[in-house]
Amino acid sequence: DKTLHIVGGGMAGSEAAWQAANMGVDVVIHEMRPKVGTFAHQTGNLAEMVCSNSFRSDDDEQNAVGLLHWEMRAANGLIMGAADRHRLPAGGALAVDRDPFSEHVTEVLRAHPRIRVEEGEVSALPDDGHWIFATGPLTSTALGQAIQAETGAERLAFFDAIAPIVYAESIDMDVVWAQSRYDKGETEAEQKAYLNCPMTKDQYEAFIDALLAAEKTEFHEGETAGYFDGCLPIEVMAERGRETLRHGPMKPVGLTNAHKPDEKPYAVVQLRRDNALGTLFNIVGFQTKMKYGAQTEVFRMIPGLENASFARLGGIHRNTFLNSPTLLDDRMRLRSRPHVRFAGQVTGVEGYVESAAMGLVAGRFAAAEILGQPLAPVPQDTAMGALIHHITGGAEAKTFQPMNVNFGLFRPLEDVRGGRRGRKDRYKGYTDRAKEAWQGWLAGQDTAALA
Ligand code: FAD
Repeated sequence: DKTLHIVGGGMAGSEAAWQAANMGVDVVIHEMRPKVGTFAHQTGNLAEMVCSNSFRSDDDEQNAVGLLHWEMRAANGLIMGAADRHRLPAGGALAVDRDPFSEHVTEVLRAHPRIRVEEGEVSALPDDGHWIFATGPLTSTALGQAIQAETGAERLAFFDAIAPIVYAESIDMDVVWAQSRYDKGETEAEQKAYLNCPMTKDQYEAFIDALLAAEKTEFHEGETAGYFDGCLPIEVMAERGRETLRHGPMKPVGLTNAHKPDEKPYAVVQLRRDNALGTLFNIVGFQTKMKYGAQTEVFRMIPGLENASFARLGGIHRNTFLNSPTLLDDRMRLRSRPHVRFAGQVTGVEGYVESAAMGLVAGRFAAAEILGQPLAPVPQDTAMGALIHHITGGAEAKTFQPMNVNFGLFRPLEDVRGGRRGRKDRYKGYTDRAKEAWQGWLAGQDTAALA
């Protein structure tokens, strides 16, 4: 049977169906709503936006998510097409009129001669056929259990606990030093996988005050079912006692300040390398529910991070996602069952745009396989490829948490002119390089033209 079954008609499933059907493959979308609901979805529409109505920056020269928009448009993406059609004025951002947007996606897919929508929950991983699971952050409980039975319980998480991620280049190395606690680690690279920010007593006290005072976000109603104590927000730890953090993630033991070996820090904030490229570092143990504005303010109080720029800020959400670096190959197939692909937020990307993007490539990969014309992996220098590479290989598997697209995931540019480029110039370099590589990949296989 050459039918492609797609489970979940959200951002990713809708895009995957559109791409595969346009390549000439018959598609069935299995969507549980409206029969089975989630705490966040309100309608039975496909591609419902569950919260904000923003696709973020539309700048395809200076912003990684804007570049992803560009790549999806170049691939005749349905989600981007619908967003453009129902765009609301919002300056440089792409804001979307949510109801007409998802109604449009629903109508287009239901009207497509190669697509059928079947209502109902899928609760097992199939033994044969061609499948894409795009069931999102709120994957149904039964299916979540079936996936855990396949992958092992520790490789499918039900909550994210995202610590903020800092661009390495924005860390002040005159203050910060590289050292793992007690110099643990076999190789020099492992010993240098951690960066340390020292705090005096006054700095620590001021930091705790700021944490306690900062504005926080609340969990949604129904979101906390199954939430456990193992990933407490730092501000909650601070509420339990002013010294709690100094005895927890900020403990100063086993570390010597390389810049001031005689001064014993009162507390230490550690950053851990977050990707193989070494361009990103996460702040260890700093998952938080502080509002984004408050986070940048509070975290820039940390010595060495005064000018930090953040690839992503922290958060804790109900979020079902795979440990993709250990489970998926570079064509989004489950290694243990290659006829099953995953796409969307469940693969460990974060956001409407990133999720739809993963649907776009999974749909194309699956359709190409069914048609007997397997595709090359997506070039790593595209926004799409940088994300896929991160989730299926580049990210640290042990500490894997969902990721937005950002320039920290891109391979550094070969700098022909020698000296360091300015940021604007560098971002333009990334986006130019990406567009060329993406067009090359599409040209090599762009059977969408057949539709
Ligand atoms: P979804 O769009 O959620 O689609 C998954 C689909 O699968 C759903 O339609 C679901 O009903 C269906 N499904 C699940 N299990 C089964 C099953 N067993 N059988 C059949 N169908 C099934 N992202 C942003 O960019 N901005 C935000 O403001 C934002 N806010 C969010 C707020 C909340 C409360 C949550 C939970 C998520 C939020 N996200 C936000 C993340 C957002 O959900 C994703 O960016 C995006 O919707 C993910 O796309 P997806 O296709 O992977 O999943």
